[in-house]
Amino acid sequence: MKYFVVTFGCQMNEADSKKIASALESKNYKPALDINKANLVVVNMCSVRQSAVDRVYGIINKLKNSKTKTILTGCILKKDRNKFRKLFDEVINIEDLTQKVEQKHDEKSSAVIPIMTGCNNFCSYCVVPYTRGREKSRPAKEIICEVESLIKRGYKEIWLLGQNVNSYSDIPFPELLRKINNIPGKFLIRFTSSHPKDFSDDLIKAMAECKKVANYLNLPIQSGDDEVLKKMNRPYTVKQYKDLVKKIRKIIPDINLSTDVIVGFPGETEKQFENTAKLFKEIKFSLAYINKYSPRYGTVAEKFEDDISPKEKKHREKVLENIIKETKYEK
Ligand code: SF4
Repeated sequence: MKYFVVTFGCQMNEADSKKIASALESKNYKPALDINKANLVVVNMCSVRQSAVDRVYGIINKLKNSKTKTILTGCILKKDRNKFRKLFDEVINIEDLTQKVEQKHDEKSSAVIPIMTGCNNFCSYCVVPYTRGREKSRPAKEIICEVESLIKRGYKEIWLLGQNVNSYSDIPFPELLRKINNIPGKFLIRFTSSHPKDFSDDLIKAMAECKKVANYLNLPIQSGDDEVLKKMNRPYTVKQYKDLVKKIRKIIPDINLSTDVIVGFPGETEKQFENTAKLFKEIKFSLAYINKYSPRYGTVAEKFEDDISPKEKKHREKVLENIIKETKYEK
């Protein structure tokens, strides 16, 4: 019997797909090289982007007259779940499908390890708390065992993943970093994502102390304007963010800092965007993941008028890209 997994969405979904593959292989399924040769197709979807939802329709429509069994899982909003229920043989919660299954890692040197799922923050533009539910942390012991086994198998990079790793709660996150750092072997530790509001002094200390923790940090700002941050339900100010960066750079001077930002959030004035551009020039990030705002069904921001034109969003994206081009080498 052969299986094929189609994945949409973020790193978390990719990690889950690897677990699905492990679960199927433990039941003697073999991977199919082509979706049309599979007896079982699992679509691990993402309701976050409409384009992904449309592509799921495309896949299932092509398969509907075949004998292939189809399963839908992933980050699915209720309205999508109800629609897809009629089209797929089964719709299964991602947790039910992946719990207790050790992840299958690619035969390369980097392994992604989800340490928690879900999010409690409800940023006004984001669908994750609705699709993934509230934060759930995996037991530290389980994570450490997984890392030990990966290091023994020759992995050189461990990427700890969660929607907000700083609120990992089985043990404090800095303690988890220290414990993983103490595992014998030559390897690098990375983690993402971090919410600035939960970034503790102890985490900065742990990053500085732990020689295996990479000199890299992704710290999403989302906007460089306090009013916009408030509307996004991001509970920090630009000043607090800048102070945090200052503190981190004081202790880890050569840190490689990246960020996530949204341009064209509803009502974002030119002045407010300029504040973001100003912050970019000041901080000199080495990389930025720039997202042009688009409304997500079911979120608070969906109710705001999406009043910045696509052309203006593109322009704002370009402005930030140009700043990054200039500043990344400086840093
Ligand atoms: S912290 Fe991240 S995952 Fe959570 S609601 Fe905000 S953007 Fe979404």
